[in-house]
Amino acid sequence: MPSKLTRPASRHPLPARPAAFGLSSLHTAHIAGLSAEKALASLNSSFDGLSKSEAGRRQREYGPNRVEEVRRKALGLRFAREFTHFFALILWFAAALAFLAEHLDPGQGMGQLGVAIIGVILINGIFSFWQEYRAERALEALRELLPQQVKLLRDGQVEEAGAESLVPGDVVLLEEGDRVPADCRLIESFGLRVNTATISGESLPAARHAEPDRNETPLTARNLVLAGTTVVSGQARAVVFATGMHTEFGKIAHLTQTTREATSPLQREIARLSRLVAALASGLGVAFFLIGQAIGLPFWDNFMFAIGIIVANVPEGLLPTVTLSLAMATQRMARRNALVRHLPAVETLGSTTVICSDKTGTLTQNRMTVKRIYADGRFVALEPEGVAAPAGESIAWLLRAAAVCHNVTFGSRNGKAEFLGDPMEIALVEWARCAGWGAEGSRKIAEIPFDSERKRMSIVQQDDIRRTLYCKGALESLLAVCDTIQHDGRVLPLDASARRRLLAAQDEMATAGLRVLAFAYRHLASGEEGREERLTLCGIAGLEDPPRPEVAAAIERCRSAGIKVVMVTGDHPVTAVAIAREIGLVRGEAPVVLRGDALPKMTRAQLQLALDAPEILFARVTAEQKMLIVQALQSKGEIVAVTGDGVNDAPALKTADIGIAMGIAGTDVAKEAADMILLDDNFASIVSAVEEGRAVFQNLRKFLTYILTSNIPELVPYLAFVLFKIPLPLTVIQILAVDLGTDMLPALALGAEPPHSGLMQEPPRPRSERLLHGPLLLRAYVWLGVMEAAIALSVFFHVLEEGGWRYGRMLERHDPLYLQATAACLGAIVLAQVVNVFLCRHPSQSAFCSGVLANPLLLWGIALEAGIIVLITYTPWGNEMFGTAPLQADVWLYMIPFVCAMGAAEEARKWFCRRFMAD
Ligand code: ATP
Repeated sequence: MPSKLTRPASRHPLPARPAAFGLSSLHTAHIAGLSAEKALASLNSSFDGLSKSEAGRRQREYGPNRVEEVRRKALGLRFAREFTHFFALILWFAAALAFLAEHLDPGQGMGQLGVAIIGVILINGIFSFWQEYRAERALEALRELLPQQVKLLRDGQVEEAGAESLVPGDVVLLEEGDRVPADCRLIESFGLRVNTATISGESLPAARHAEPDRNETPLTARNLVLAGTTVVSGQARAVVFATGMHTEFGKIAHLTQTTREATSPLQREIARLSRLVAALASGLGVAFFLIGQAIGLPFWDNFMFAIGIIVANVPEGLLPTVTLSLAMATQRMARRNALVRHLPAVETLGSTTVICSDKTGTLTQNRMTVKRIYADGRFVALEPEGVAAPAGESIAWLLRAAAVCHNVTFGSRNGKAEFLGDPMEIALVEWARCAGWGAEGSRKIAEIPFDSERKRMSIVQQDDIRRTLYCKGALESLLAVCDTIQHDGRVLPLDASARRRLLAAQDEMATAGLRVLAFAYRHLASGEEGREERLTLCGIAGLEDPPRPEVAAAIERCRSAGIKVVMVTGDHPVTAVAIAREIGLVRGEAPVVLRGDALPKMTRAQLQLALDAPEILFARVTAEQKMLIVQALQSKGEIVAVTGDGVNDAPALKTADIGIAMGIAGTDVAKEAADMILLDDNFASIVSAVEEGRAVFQNLRKFLTYILTSNIPELVPYLAFVLFKIPLPLTVIQILAVDLGTDMLPALALGAEPPHSGLMQEPPRPRSERLLHGPLLLRAYVWLGVMEAAIALSVFFHVLEEGGWRYGRMLERHDPLYLQATAACLGAIVLAQVVNVFLCRHPSQSAFCSGVLANPLLLWGIALEAGIIVLITYTPWGNEMFGTAPLQADVWLYMIPFVCAMGAAEEARKWFCRRFMAD
């Protein structure tokens, strides 16, 4: 029951607390045991809060109200993890084998190989760690884009400010959905219930009030609300008594390790892929070793080569590329107003097949104006600006109700004076004010808060003479609690025909896309409790909330991207359809419109079948019913993104594959439950985010195609050496130079590609589709890889033949001709990979379609690649280390037609795919 709870000071002295509670517990118990007035006085504060200057002084003394981020794992531990994952373990194993070989048979270069492999593990581990650390910091920085806002009183004025600015003694206003920003003592409350799960683990909401409570601990004291807990319902005014690390939450944060994060589909896919590729690499290594043994190659040469093959085939760059890809996508998403809370959510977003979207604020602007009034049995013309209305008893009541029945406060946001609260209520308050009505001369003494189940709210207002209950809400909801109606200055029974007329008027307004709200009141007898019954209806108002201009195009993009958009709104079905038509969501004559109350009566199968309708929308839906819709869609195998803003939306946001909270209109509770937050509440931003999510998956495929391609020109020369008894065209250390040197940065750059233009013209990726699928393997291994191998071998033989070599002659390891030929083979692979990086930017679109400057990292990658190959071929150190010799310019010129031919062949394949294989 709502009540205003301020009590006289307690006359009982505070009982001493056991020492085990420590000083701060004593303090909290102290403040809980005091009356509200004394509690305020003990903090040198008042009902109207602190002065700005005092708040500033305290801020300097107590510091910002911030709980230091709990490091998920000690940094050292996370660093160690980079050297112990699956790929790293294989490499460690390979290095150990190399050292063992060196030990058993010194002088074969195995020790050098072991050192090289360890170098690779270290460079890779440090790079991955740095990459992940940066991504995490960037995510943290993004989160700071959306600081928690609180309503507080300074100098008696309501102000909206960042939660960090709170100091002990500040008076804050709390309402449904707020995360409590600091430890507070309530001084006034209306039906307040809080969820303390974050601190006590208790999941049921607990009632809180402002009465003194002397016998409880800080966790259970019924007049304390603690930082980190959330307001489930009601409102309150409270004084802050502990901030930052001094709050109970701050103390726990010191101790706790956050829970283990669930693995995302992408993480599972990467793990699967890692195992697959590692098995492949090891299998190849063993196979090559056995072949070598069978044809009688020297054991240690053979052994060294097997290890080289394993190392070359492990895609060391995969893990940092995944992180980079996701991190770059989150940055781009943030620029497009979508803030991702967990990295893996990015990719899930890319596979979204259905978006369930709210209407108000997401598809519409949430900028409301009163457009039409229906009272006294007729529509009343409003003045052209749509604000003032002519006088009349019914309209006077309607305006009075609009002026008082709300939770709007006047205060300042970012230093600008304005109304703070729900835009619809602000529209009503402004309308009433323009007509000369305000809440002066009376005060609110109780409230029955709005909830989407009842679809109405009431406020009991006390003036000099009497108490009146004012109620506003959906017409159906008010018709259930009204028995009379204001009509031309008289109060008449609300009979069936009056009800019919009201419903018809509602339909007329709703057809025009207006949001319809009814108003009612009742005078209360003295001492009577405010109940929503026997009310007198005074009229209905139609509010316009225009669609967001960019939404129609975004819906069209979803259509071409094969993503279904389902409107799920609490509003009236007719209004919902009218708006849906306006934004192009509904085009057909007869869309399926399901009302929320029908859902619990349907079986899961019925609901799933209904969801097959091409155009379907849900109206008058409560948060619980929204959850049913999400679950039904998921049972159909859909990947569901759902939007939400209220406290009750949290379960649906958590259940959905991607929960999306509103950054502006959303409550803290919804934001915490969500995977993504929309900074501008705009539907169009969801669609942009989906595009970025899709790009991540594509980029990982580009990366894989690129690195797998170069495995073939690394393996084929060895096979040729074994089978045709030619000098070995590419040595193990050269293979490592490609895989761990020249290929690395261009491959990484492919992971950072921006989305390509046709991405939203493709259907969503089926859930079962793997990252590494048949077409990718064929393209990399059998097509691009084979071409690269052919180029590398042609160039190798060209140099040999120019130098007078004839088939059958074996060359010494240090023969200058051999050194040149093997350098040429290596150079050809690197040059072919430079071309390949452009080819890999899209599986079917021409390389010339993607602007080079769109991805600067790519150019850096190529520059580094060129730098490395120059070092390897033209410096004595490079020659010594990698067994090469400088190449003449004509060797490079000889390669050019080959790599151009490879580019042309791939372009022709792409053209063929586009021409003949498009759906
Ligand atoms: P959406 O779910 O698309 O955001 P909505 O805002 O209409 O739509 P709810 O917030 O669940 O959904 O509101 C449902 C209905 O309750 C509204 O259509 C309106 O009739 C009524 N209503 C909404 N807000 C208030 C309020 N502050 N006071 C009284 N009635 C309200």
